[in-house]
Amino acid sequence: MNDCIFCKIAKGEIPSTKIYEDKDFFAFLDIKPVNLGHALLIPKTHVKNLYEFPEELLSKAGPLIKKFAIAVKKGANADGINLGMNNDEAAGQLVFHAHFHIIPRFKDDGHIHWGGKEHSADEMQSISQKIISAL
Ligand code: 5GP
Ligand code: ZN
Repeated sequence: MNDCIFCKIAKGEIPSTKIYEDKDFFAFLDIKPVNLGHALLIPKTHVKNLYEFPEELLSKAGPLIKKFAIAVKKGANADGINLGMNNDEAAGQLVFHAHFHIIPRFKDDGHIHWGGKEHSADEMQSISQKIISAL
């Protein structure tokens, strides 16, 4: 995947504000942060999205995400942290190399959460059965 911008960042071929690196992962600041300190954690190998993330690698990502949530909160002196991962174009994925967003949040930063919609009990039952069948 020579054209992947995040592969190039992980290899140091494109500059980034690096905050962490180990054998498997690389973390750097988002070039267009939601708030200052917004970090991205990526696997060094090219993984397109969560669905294709090898389980063994994913098990290493979990503790790292926690580490970054705590470090970004402390470093940015934030009031809270949002974790995010966009998978597929419909969900807003722009870079097709899997990445976890660690976003510092402040009480009056003006960002709003997505709105919720109400659905009938039948619809809720039906979708829950479909998800359970897909598990
Ligand atoms: P997505 O919508 O795919 O979850 O988000 C991609 C994120 O990567 C965006 O927040 C965007 O600002 C960030 N990004 C895209 N290109 C670059 C880049 O070249 N360098 C850095 N540091 N961040 C990037
Ligand atoms: Zn890549």
